[in-house]
Amino acid sequence: MSEQGHVVLITGGSRGIGRATAELAASRGWKVGINYQRDAGAAGEAVATIQRAGGQALAIQGDVAIEGDVIGMFDRLAEAFGPVTALVNNAGIVAPASLLADMDVSRMRRVFDTNILGAYLSAREAARRLSTDRGGPGGAIVNVSSIASRIGSANEYVDYAGSKGAVDTLTLGLAQELAGRGVRVNCVRPGIIDTEIHASGGQPDRAWQRAGVIPLQRPGQASEVAAAIVWLLSDEASYTTGAILDVAGGR
Ligand code: NDP
Repeated sequence: MSEQGHVVLITGGSRGIGRATAELAASRGWKVGINYQRDAGAAGEAVATIQRAGGQALAIQGDVAIEGDVIGMFDRLAEAFGPVTALVNNAGIVAPASLLADMDVSRMRRVFDTNILGAYLSAREAARRLSTDRGGPGGAIVNVSSIASRIGSANEYVDYAGSKGAVDTLTLGLAQELAGRGVRVNCVRPGIIDTEIHASGGQPDRAWQRAGVIPLQRPGQASEVAAAIVWLLSDEASYTTGAILDVAGGR
């Protein structure tokens, strides 16, 4: 399959890393589905920015943790632009920093539902639709994990870190399942990236304080993660599958 034909669904594409990925993908001529959960205004702005630059994009509301919503997102994108050929499994949340001993179950469920169940549901739908042995066009999936999966995020977000560990493992298994079915599956693990997710974590300053332990001595920009994601989706990465690429300033 030529990347010229990419019709790419980006979960959580309305802000941060997802939005930067949407803009870069659209600049390559790919047709982009921008999924969001709550903020229709942000998704609309992302679509308008792409359209002003001559690209094609569609905002698609849906919660990645709800099976029917995920199926509906793929349906809507396919109706608008033709069969989906790529997924960026990007939607994710973090809850305020806490010791595990103090975490309540509702918070943990929210994190796991979005970051694990959501990633698995989106990947499952992509596997069903892209696999060549099911009549699909082939294509590529990029999962967005976090270096938290490697470092554990003690004293703050061990639930989030564990959820991203599952995303890494999904990448390894699904890459093997789909390798003979025309679909490459890879993963990026961002470090500290300058997006609004740190505000939703409740303690925006803490992430920046840790910037001192980043060998490149600064937080990353969403566009720097987007570049890795778009490369992994592109034909330039045609021999790369099952890879987990840290985009973390050397951390
Ligand atoms: P942002 O908080 O900036 O954006 C999150 C996006 O996800 C929004 O578009 C939001 O939509 C959407 N979203 C949240 N929950 C759902 C849901 N249940 N269903 C559908 N969409 C949802 O996040 P980032 O860009 O910072 O993060 C993107 C990914 O990168 C995440 O998986 C995150 O874990 C990962 N990451 C980020 C790092 C960072 O430092 N920024 C570091 C490591 C990993 P809406 O606004 O409508 O709710």
